[in-house]
Amino acid sequence: MSGFTGKCLCGAVSYRSHEDPVVAINCHCEDCRRSTGAVFGTNVMVPEAGFELSGEVKSYLHTADSGNAMTKYFCPECGSLVYGTGTGRPNIISVRAGSIDDVEKIAPSINVFLDSKVPTAPMNEELTSWPRMPQPAPSKD
Ligand SMILES: [Zn+2]
Ligand SMILES: [Zn+2]
Repeated sequence: MSGFTGKCLCGAVSYRSHEDPVVAINCHCEDCRRSTGAVFGTNVMVPEAGFELSGEVKSYLHTADSGNAMTKYFCPECGSLVYGTGTGRPNIISVRAGSIDDVEKIAPSINVFLDSKVPTAPMNEELTSWPRMPQPAPSKD
């Protein structure tokens, strides 16, 4: 079956993506580090049209170093970051991989922002790596 489900730590926010990921990225940028609290973020891109949210989310808007406006959506109860959107990727939801129930759907194909990688952070050397975000941004494997 295509698609997957996910939720925040407390379960007040959950979602279903009716589509499989378009692409998944291990992102070592500082924004992903600070917003997830982990040494890097894994972002799983899905079409917005197939993304069904349940529960209330709070959002935080900021500007990425690309100049794109990014919005992060998180659970107001437990604070888990669940997904994000950005003006650089219209109609795409960037799901935070750690929130996904169906863990076999988490299959990153590239590493990005190696320029800002934490030196001790683990990295999958088998994937193509980029110093920043390649342009145009990858849309498929
Ligand atoms: Zn929660
Ligand atoms: Zn990032």
